[in-house]
Amino acid sequence: MRKKIVAGNWKMNNDLAQTELLLKDLKKQIIPEDVEVIIAPPFTNLHHSFVSLRDHPIGVAAQNMHQSNEGAFTGEISAAMLKSVGVESVILGHSERRAYFKEDDALLAEKVNTALEHELDVIFCIGEELEDRKKDGHFNVIKTQLENGLFHISENNWKQVVIAYEPVWAIGTGETASPEQVQEMHEYIRRMIAENCGSELAESVSVLYGGSVKPENAGEIFSQKDVDGGLIGGASLDAESFMAIVNAFP
Ligand code: 13P
Repeated sequence: MRKKIVAGNWKMNNDLAQTELLLKDLKKQIIPEDVEVIIAPPFTNLHHSFVSLRDHPIGVAAQNMHQSNEGAFTGEISAAMLKSVGVESVILGHSERRAYFKEDDALLAEKVNTALEHELDVIFCIGEELEDRKKDGHFNVIKTQLENGLFHISENNWKQVVIAYEPVWAIGTGETASPEQVQEMHEYIRRMIAENCGSELAESVSVLYGGSVKPENAGEIFSQKDVDGGLIGGASLDAESFMAIVNAFP
């Protein structure tokens, strides 16, 4: 059975005071039992979020981490540090990390390994740019990102992995991929996993969609056969909108 998951990627938003307010609002809401809800605040608010949500079903994820265990890497955060403040999972390969911080598939493969070794769950993001789609190269981009960044992991480790398909052209643009485009790509992703690791495993991996998901469009996207939830940016900064999305499964 695939897990239903809705994760909020706060990106570089919310200082400590704003985090306290948003957590307070989120904790007032009832979380459906069959949906795993995760928030990914900036590093500075991870520990506070973990403590605040200790008796609450919302989980806490980081937005990034360094691939090395420790050492002279000024400004970086290790997997062990994340674990030590209660973080359970980490987003890796977000298109903003790929584009602005030049994270490539080889580096991401290393980060995936380090996260898994430290028993952090991984939300692995993949997605094509508009140019790729225009020239009909979107499936190939996704295939390459999966093969080079993720498909080296052992069968056992797949339990710790969730995939998030986020077409770059739909992130923060207000332009959502159509439910048909989402379903088509999610089915392709699941087929890729099946070809590499077997169909039973492919059926057990949650594949989330991200890119301008809002309360108004979440229901239609979440009702697609191969969509198991969403990775939410902008709309996760407002408790009511985020919870409307959490409750949008058919
Ligand atoms: P938006 O929901 O703001 O488009 O962001 C999506 C995203 O990048 C989540 O990781």
